[in-house]
Amino acid sequence: RTVYVNGEYLPETEATVSIFDRGFLMADGVYEVTSVLGGKLIDFAGHLARLERSLSELEIKKPAAYDDLLEIHRELVRANDIEDGLVYLQVTRGSDGDRDFVFPDAETTEPTLVLFTQSKPGLADNPAAKKGIKVISIEDIRWGRRDIKTVQLLYPSMGKMMAKKAGCDDAWMIEDGHVTEGTSNNAYIVKGNKIVTRHLSNDILHGITRAAVLRFAREAQMEVEERSFTIDEAREADEAFVTSASAFVMPVVEIDGVTLGDGTPGRVATRLREIYLDESRKTAV
Ligand code: PMP
Repeated sequence: RTVYVNGEYLPETEATVSIFDRGFLMADGVYEVTSVLGGKLIDFAGHLARLERSLSELEIKKPAAYDDLLEIHRELVRANDIEDGLVYLQVTRGSDGDRDFVFPDAETTEPTLVLFTQSKPGLADNPAAKKGIKVISIEDIRWGRRDIKTVQLLYPSMGKMMAKKAGCDDAWMIEDGHVTEGTSNNAYIVKGNKIVTRHLSNDILHGITRAAVLRFAREAQMEVEERSFTIDEAREADEAFVTSASAFVMPVVEIDGVTLGDGTPGRVATRLREIYLDESRKTAV
């Protein structure tokens, strides 16, 4: 695999980052994942806009201009012959060659920029979407700035492991009885014809797929309510689903052992998945 690190395209075995890099020592970094369908980038502008916001919230210097980042994404897709898959991008604050809680001087310290691809043949035809996934609920014990897409992914990773041990696919995180989001996706329930998903705040990541899906839902005259909902409400919902750049729209058929509807993917989730895949392919770059 060809990867990109700080201005260079290299074989993955030759790419290196300093052991003092603050991404490695302190999770002082942010990332984005953009999916690739038919060799093209899905929702690229949205991911870049969120990257800029994450960087500015943490006062990390922007490592490259928009056009350069687009070119790097495209070059890696070409070099690795990615038809369907993902491009992972990470920016960390870098290092001045030592460990210190105080940020190094932003004038003299360059951020670290790393990108690599993951090939996922048939990404849009994921068989899980036809079956739906099972989730458990766990307490949300993450920090209070979940709107910043940082690389602090230990708790979400533990959540995914808890789900796996329980024979499920993912976990929904709960704060004060209300669902915040999935470990790596935004969470939705459907009641009658109404789609309910948590409103934007610092409590959740502002999903790029979420924004697109809600726009398509409204354009299709579906009713959308952006508000928090409880896990009890979720267990009694007609259907549920999650969204993310890599899962698109993924139906949820079971929550904490409670089967939703008839246990198969719901009508709304299935329709939104089709619309999202069709529409986002049209604007892919
Ligand atoms: N919430 C969390 C916690 C996530 O990690 C992700 C995916 N990175 C999302 C939501 C979905 O965001 P997006 O649609 O931009 O992939």
